[in-house]
Amino acid sequence: MRQSLVMGNWKMNGSRSEGLDLANAIVAGLKQGDQGIAVCVPYVYLSDIQNAIADTPLALGAQNVADQESGAYTGEISGAMLKECGCSYALVGHSERRSYYGDTDESVATRFCQAQKQGVVPVLCVGETLEERENDETFAVIDRQLNAVIDKAGIDALTDSVIAYEPVWAIGTGKTASDDQAQEVHKYIREQIAAKSQTVADNIQILYGGSVKPNNAKAIFAMPDIDGGLIGGASLDAESFLTIYQSI
Ligand code: PEP
Repeated sequence: MRQSLVMGNWKMNGSRSEGLDLANAIVAGLKQGDQGIAVCVPYVYLSDIQNAIADTPLALGAQNVADQESGAYTGEISGAMLKECGCSYALVGHSERRSYYGDTDESVATRFCQAQKQGVVPVLCVGETLEERENDETFAVIDRQLNAVIDKAGIDALTDSVIAYEPVWAIGTGKTASDDQAQEVHKYIREQIAAKSQTVADNIQILYGGSVKPNNAKAIFAMPDIDGGLIGGASLDAESFLTIYQSI
């Protein structure tokens, strides 16, 4: 049985005090022994949130990580810095990074390795645009994004990682992939990994992301190859986020 995981992505939202209130409200809704819940918060609030959620079931993540270890890379944040701020996870290759900030398959693979090197679990985001889906390129896009990481890090590196399948057309749009559409791609991802290592495929958590809300989470999470969710908009409200977490 794979442990499920529900992860919030706050993106560039909220003030310090709003972030603290949100983290505290999420923690207040958790019981001791709960696991598999995390929030990826803006870099500048990592330490504050780290202190607020210490010794609680809520884990901390960042929304990106540098593709270099240290040095003259103005504006970047290294894996070691994230580790020091208490991050268990770092998103890599979120579609907003790929489309607005030029993150390439190559740089995403390097970021993946940099996070892992510091003991921060990379959450590799993959997914197709609407145009790619309409051109029947979904699986080819997934292959390209996944293989860039496998070719660089090796299949066994996926053991300490998470994959998030996020169809770009479903992110922040209110359009969710149907349960069957999501399952089809999750199954495909697991099969591609299984072709290289059945053990890794059996154990890796594959999250779905894209307009998951309290009213659709249960059906999505019921699919056999979906191990949880990466939640954007709905993670900014503690009640919604907790309801989604409880839908697992
Ligand atoms: C995301 O940003 O990863 C995401 C899934 O956003 P939303 O839930 O708002 O679609």
